Amino acid sequence: MKYDAVVMGGGLAGLICGIRLTQSGLSCAIVSAGQNALHFSSGSLDLLTHLPDGTQVEQPLSMLEALKQQAPSHPYSLIGAEKVAELAKLAQTTLQQAGLHLKGSCEENHYRITPLGHKRMTWLSPESVPTTALHQPMELGKIAVVGIEGFLDFQPQMVADELDRQGLEAEACYVHLPLLDRLRENPSEFRAINVARWLDRPENMAQIVEEIAPLVANADAVFMPACIGLDSEEPMLELQKRLGKPLFLLPTLPPSLLGIRLHEMLLRQFRRQGGIMMPGDKVTSVNFVGSRIESVQTRNHGNISLKAKHFVLATGSFFNNGLVAKFDQVYEPLMNLDLGEIGDRAKWTNKEFFASQPYMAFGVQTDGNLRGKKHGETIENLYIAGAVLSGFDPLTQGCGAGVSLVTGLYAANEIVNEFAKDQAMQAEVAQ
Ligand SMILES: Cc1cc2nc3c(=O)[nH]c(=O)nc-3n(C[C@H](O)[C@H](O)[C@H](O)COP(=O)(O)OP(=O)(O)OC[C@H]3O[C@@H](n4cnc5c(N)ncnc54)[C@H](O)[C@@H]3O)c2cc1C
Repeated sequence: MKYDAVVMGGGLAGLICGIRLTQSGLSCAIVSAGQNALHFSSGSLDLLTHLPDGTQVEQPLSMLEALKQQAPSHPYSLIGAEKVAELAKLAQTTLQQAGLHLKGSCEENHYRITPLGHKRMTWLSPESVPTTALHQPMELGKIAVVGIEGFLDFQPQMVADELDRQGLEAEACYVHLPLLDRLRENPSEFRAINVARWLDRPENMAQIVEEIAPLVANADAVFMPACIGLDSEEPMLELQKRLGKPLFLLPTLPPSLLGIRLHEMLLRQFRRQGGIMMPGDKVTSVNFVGSRIESVQTRNHGNISLKAKHFVLATGSFFNNGLVAKFDQVYEPLMNLDLGEIGDRAKWTNKEFFASQPYMAFGVQTDGNLRGKKHGETIENLYIAGAVLSGFDPLTQGCGAGVSLVTGLYAANEIVNEFAKDQAMQAEVAQ
């Protein structure tokens, strides 16, 4: 099987890369072993919320030079401020074209409300998530925070208490939905995704409205756990219409409906554009010819190799086995690629629990064009994208999704440019 490009890993980085490649007319296959970080994420996407020294970032694009001073090996520093700005804007457009309704801009962060009712800075949030602009109070009037009886992954009282502390007027209540009784019999099944499968059925809408409406009659706005609208926003919009007041969804404990929907929308866009997704498959070995990759082997395809002119490694970090840690060793398991600075075992972690943990920045080292290296030699046709990269801490710097989107698009653009150059050369030779 031969493609223009093969992407290893179908998380946010791999998918956005595949979307850009197929949008540009290239053939692309994505091999993806399993779930990705989006399934566990808030559904909001961070670009940059803090510098490594803890300085809060309100306007991400204007702080990229300061970031470079403090973190020269951060992927944004390698790519360069101008390119990052261009790619962050391209990410916004590409997500929108995939049908995602997101609010926010790379020019300025906003606050989203977390599942505990706190304010957290971010770049892009689903339209359905409650957000507020920086330095502006949230003006929603009286908020009803509705929990679902038996659903333990969302505690309305905690949210309401925190909103009250911030000076908002919020009241918690629980709705009993008889249609969920069957789920309630088994608490381990009572998760956001399973709840959504019931709430999303059009025939259940009347009962949902009947139970919730009296509870929120005196409220100006309603907050609910993100348990509705798995495949599309339609059921949530319908409920909002029938309640007759703004309805907002708060992310729950994983599995995260908002993250899964984001993943599904991107996957659909990739497939719509002719991309080949190989879900549940895993790249097991990589075949080199000199300093280039010729093909990869996968678990499900046995002896049939996937050949391509370019390859992208987007296998994620420790969370998804894109990196592996043994007691005194960290390595990239597919090709044993060169890693960034690892340092002494004793310095992998910081005793202060909430401080930046050094191991979070471990990952694959690249050249200035995000190409991987082995024994110091650049692999000419291998780009690295997303969480598997070294040099950044997605948690304390609030840049996880941003790095995946920006580097995934960077890799795709480099590949598209290579093809354009090849074509121009062939045209010249033919003349
Ligand atoms: C639990 C969690 C929550 C997060 N929440 C947020 C958030 O709310 N907002 C935010 O901005 N950022 C968040 N992040 C940061 C996150 O890292 C990025 O947002 C981003 O989703 C990472 O995408 P990725 O594609 O680089 O890697 P991943 O999402 O990890 O995807 C890698 C994929 O590669 C596959 N894979 C691995 N090895 C192979 C192989 N050999 N062959 C084929 N496939 C393979 C994996 O199965 C996986 O599907 C979160 C991270 C984690 C871990």
